[in-house]
Amino acid sequence: MLDTKVLQDYIRTIPDFPHEGIMFRDVTTLFQDPRGFRLAVDQLLAPFVGQRIDMVAGLEARGFILGGAVAHQLSKGFVPIRKKGKLPAATIEQEYELEYGSATVEIHDDALKPGDKVLLVDDLLATGGTAEAGIKLIERLGAEVVGCAFVVDLPEIGGRKRLEDMGMAVHALCH
Ligand code: IMP
Repeated sequence: MLDTKVLQDYIRTIPDFPHEGIMFRDVTTLFQDPRGFRLAVDQLLAPFVGQRIDMVAGLEARGFILGGAVAHQLSKGFVPIRKKGKLPAATIEQEYELEYGSATVEIHDDALKPGDKVLLVDDLLATGGTAEAGIKLIERLGAEVVGCAFVVDLPEIGGRKRLEDMGMAVHALCH
């Protein structure tokens, strides 16, 4: 039988997680389906095939699952951008605003070389604050972000505009 499922059919929505009123887009159901996972990885990297990419960076935590698979498919290395306090060697850190308070992400200070072309990957783009912090870390190491790839974009929250206003190429598989 012909499988007519499209990418967003693999993503489930959990109401009121982690707080009341939040509709959480759960991509674990996409990851656990072999066809859905391959569809996502292939589509994430599709616009960047033929472009120079030296490294794939992923945002904690679901960006590690997607970014690792994208890096493997491109035969490139993978760099994790982690929440503060998780990386073992010397890091640089970047703080960013949350709805209530702030958060900090880190990258190993020797993870990228000046001039490296980097593809940044995460599961979901909302305000763009997490991705912007990741971009700043990559740029502070002298590397260049060639694109930001997400499975889900929530455009009404404004993250895409925020990243595009920084001059970023934003690629998302569904809205
Ligand atoms: P932003 O910084 O506001 O763009 O939020 C994006 C970050 O929060 C990403 O790292 C996502 O993994 C996470 N996130 C926010 N909302 C959701 C959701 O509904 N599903 C999965 N991840 C989410």
